[in-house]
Amino acid sequence: MTGPIDEPPTGPRASPRRSRTQVAVTGEHQMGLREVRPAVFFDRDGTLIRDVGYIKEPDLVELVPDAASVVRAFNYALWAAVIVTNQSGIARGLLTEQDYLAVKARVDDLFAERGAYIEAHYHCPHHPDFTGPCECRKPGTHLYELAAAEHALGLAESVWIGDRWRDVAPSLAFGGRGILVPAERTPKDEIARSKEHGIAVVGSLLDAVHRVLHV
Ligand SMILES: [Mg+2]
Ligand SMILES: [Zn+2]
Repeated sequence: MTGPIDEPPTGPRASPRRSRTQVAVTGEHQMGLREVRPAVFFDRDGTLIRDVGYIKEPDLVELVPDAASVVRAFNYALWAAVIVTNQSGIARGLLTEQDYLAVKARVDDLFAERGAYIEAHYHCPHHPDFTGPCECRKPGTHLYELAAAEHALGLAESVWIGDRWRDVAPSLAFGGRGILVPAERTPKDEIARSKEHGIAVVGSLLDAVHRVLHV
């Protein structure tokens, strides 16, 4: 965790990112090879920042303990740290896209001040009761597919970390790993459901990073 960012990661999960490639094919012509990296897909509210409910004020953003060091650990291991968040407050008229962007900028600033880097944020602004069904609201898989395409991520090698079932369930669709970090508001049945599906349930973000990076 203290080495330079270009220092090769060590340990059993270090080799796949150098050996796996993704082939883009158009018709009969191979257009090129590109390296794919594993990603850690974090839920935002209740996982990386305190869940204050439909947050629209950047001043209310507060990182949870260890959020920055956990993101930094993934940064050093050359994993892409990506936030995927349901923001139904937008569909409900409780916040605007501009509010969301202001909060997102504040999140980025707080991590940057601590030497951590969120590579990309994706959000679903919908809610079925207000805007009809969509494919991007978690546990829908659209935003992960989009992130993989835009950032050359290997979904089967990736990890999903969140405080709700909907945050970790997408790991099952892609053959990745889910790790539930329950918060106060996490319903008990979602903890049980996660365990039933082989999703790890851990006590803290630090426990989650230890499981993945063996640091
Ligand atoms: Mg959450
Ligand atoms: Zn959506």
